[in-house]
Amino acid sequence: SVVDNAADIERTAKTNKNVDVIKEFAAGNAKKESNFVVVGHVDAGKSTLMGRLLYDLKVVDERTIQKFKSESEKIGKASFQYAWVLDQTEEERARGVTMDIAQNSFETDKAKFTILDAPGHRDFIPNMIAGSSQADFAVLVIDSSTGAFEAGFHLQGQTKEHTLLVRSIGIQRIIVAVNKLDSVSWAEERFEEIRQQMTVFLTSAGFHAKNISFVPCSGLTGENVVTPLKPSKAPWYKGSSLITELENSSPLARAIDKPLRLTVADVFRGGIQNPVSISGRIDSGTLQVGDVLLALPSGEKTAVKAIEINNDPRPWAVAGHNCTIHLAGIDMLHLKQGDVLSSVSNPIPVVKEFTAKVLAFQTITPMAVDIHRGRLHVPGKITHLVRTLDKATGEEVKKKPRFIGPGTAAQVKVSLEQGVPLERGGRVVFRFGGVTVGSGVVE
Ligand code: GDP
Repeated sequence: SVVDNAADIERTAKTNKNVDVIKEFAAGNAKKESNFVVVGHVDAGKSTLMGRLLYDLKVVDERTIQKFKSESEKIGKASFQYAWVLDQTEEERARGVTMDIAQNSFETDKAKFTILDAPGHRDFIPNMIAGSSQADFAVLVIDSSTGAFEAGFHLQGQTKEHTLLVRSIGIQRIIVAVNKLDSVSWAEERFEEIRQQMTVFLTSAGFHAKNISFVPCSGLTGENVVTPLKPSKAPWYKGSSLITELENSSPLARAIDKPLRLTVADVFRGGIQNPVSISGRIDSGTLQVGDVLLALPSGEKTAVKAIEINNDPRPWAVAGHNCTIHLAGIDMLHLKQGDVLSSVSNPIPVVKEFTAKVLAFQTITPMAVDIHRGRLHVPGKITHLVRTLDKATGEEVKKKPRFIGPGTAAQVKVSLEQGVPLERGGRVVFRFGGVTVGSGVVE
């Protein structure tokens, strides 16, 4: 009831130790923590590559390895043992696809990581948008075998769409895993061909050359994933292995000193002790046990009972952390995926209309669209095409255009069927009929 909830919040708020979180975070010598998303055309070898990474880092115990190994031998698909490390549920295994954003964490001597695995199938793009909005950087997996890179890159391939999406969601750093090089005998020409074409494309998509790196590898044989490449295999390659590239990718500067915004990825019942729990990424600000927060759009207050990161209890967390939070004083019906937990003194607005600067992937007219923001997607409309813009300078090119062609930047007005927590700088993706028509930044 309302009274119980209020009392519960008050009780929990008293446990607040008023830690100076920004100071503690700055003083700490905590290991670098980052989250990355894995994208690429279906069958590029994403699951195999990530499974191999976890295998070779010994994240998976020997018994599980043996079990997967014998099961995959039974069905005559040896590589499946690696993919299964990621797709752990029976249902996913039976269907042979990686369905949701499976989260796997691992660490090396230097850094900690969470893999937000994104599936390659066309209708799973909403999951990819959600995964990317939680990521610090992306690993783009490319199948280098004969004809496969071309199939993924041209026509209806997903390499381009995924890349444009991750960039437009705000990811600035990308590691291109030029995978399956075992199938082309580690040919330098093939690696170079892919590197050159991808560099042109990635730069035009808005990635700075200094934030792009290319790693030749094979998820199947494990070469250059964790184990460095033998010079005899590819004497032409002088760079590092995939794991070293991952370790060298610093998370972006994080908005720790901004008001708290935590986007809810999941809501679940934690048990008698913790009746309502959520997981999600802190987009900005800090959070500590005892903090009182506002859940939006419901506008209900709640208090933080406990914080966990990778199952470790923590007194506080900061922007960039993916965490689980046990909440007091709120009912489950007031929280759902895509909601935002916000500071009470500076809450995120809930809007039904906004103006955005968009980049069109397909032709945009005044039209019905689904608006995606992280895990949230709601129906809405692009109501007005205000002006097209020069991509480089942002200046007006044409007022009230009749349509916005692919590759064109423009300012548009958008209306939503329901209120959504959204503020200036927020990244949204517009889709229609299963196709991404554009992406935008809220003004
Ligand atoms: P995903 O759809 O991107 O997750 O791709 P999978 O990991 O399921 O792999 C797709 C297919 O490519 C499977 O048949 C794998 O056996 C094969 N494969 C994956 N990685 C490699 C590799 O490094 N070399 C070769 N030759 N085949 C690979």
